Amino acid sequence: MNSNEIKEKLAGQLKKTRFLHSVGVADCAAELAAHYGADVEKAYLAGLLHDCARTFATLDLAKVASEMQLPVTKIEMRTPILLHAAIGAAMLPQEYQIEDEEIQQAIRFHTVGGPSMTDLDKIVYLADMIEPGRRYPGVDELRRLTAVKTLDQVMLAAFNQSIAFVLNKNNVIHPDTVAARNEILLKE
Ligand code: FE
Ligand code: FE
Repeated sequence: MNSNEIKEKLAGQLKKTRFLHSVGVADCAAELAAHYGADVEKAYLAGLLHDCARTFATLDLAKVASEMQLPVTKIEMRTPILLHAAIGAAMLPQEYQIEDEEIQQAIRFHTVGGPSMTDLDKIVYLADMIEPGRRYPGVDELRRLTAVKTLDQVMLAAFNQSIAFVLNKNNVIHPDTVAARNEILLKE
């Protein structure tokens, strides 16, 4: 499917606010890709589709994931919304005729990060956090950083914010987020 066909399909399936968020992430990811020298087309498509599994009710996600033979750990049992990332990635070939593994991985990693993140993965993760519709304390700081810092430096700030947020809610910190953050620190 091309991006217009995908947009039409998503517009019919997602809640209006979720659809507008998806278009916001697509535009923002394309901008970041141009700025940081990544594939603009792939960034746009990954952004557009990153939340395509949000059509499922959150409480159904564990069942959907196991039917698709995706791993469901204790963390996902406790926070099933996390599964929309892996489910969305796995839906791409069948539902959107997208076989590109870089796009699939960017979608799989968009919520908690993952090992050996590519620039595309990082761009989609960031775009999800800073697209223009997002409002939370700290979002403007992340937007500002994208203009003046390297992609890894902005990712570090983004991970720090995410981890602080989860910590303050007394929730489980996903090991993939910790691993992705450590990878950046150990690289510098
Ligand atoms: Fe998401
Ligand atoms: Fe999102």
